[in-house]
Amino acid sequence: MMKKLSPRHAVIPAAECVACGTCVDVCPREAISIYRGSYAQIHEEICVGCGKCARECPASIIRVEARR
Ligand code: SF4
Ligand code: SF4
Repeated sequence: MMKKLSPRHAVIPAAECVACGTCVDVCPREAISIYRGSYAQIHEEICVGCGKCARECPASIIRVEARR
């Protein structure tokens, strides 16, 4: 059976990310990794949309949106 996904998930605009790693450190689900040292990437199927990363991002670029 497919695991039910959360209704919302985080979105990071890669071009605005400075790859500081704060979101990686604070995510309780380990749903974020830094891609090739250059930007943060959300693993959307793991993300539960809690918004912790968005609150902690020093650049304030993370949005939590409804899944499409
Ligand atoms: S919204 Fe929550 S679960 Fe999703 S990436 Fe951010 S901190 Fe992790
Ligand atoms: S906290 Fe913000 S700026 Fe830092 S790696 Fe995550 S998305 Fe990028």
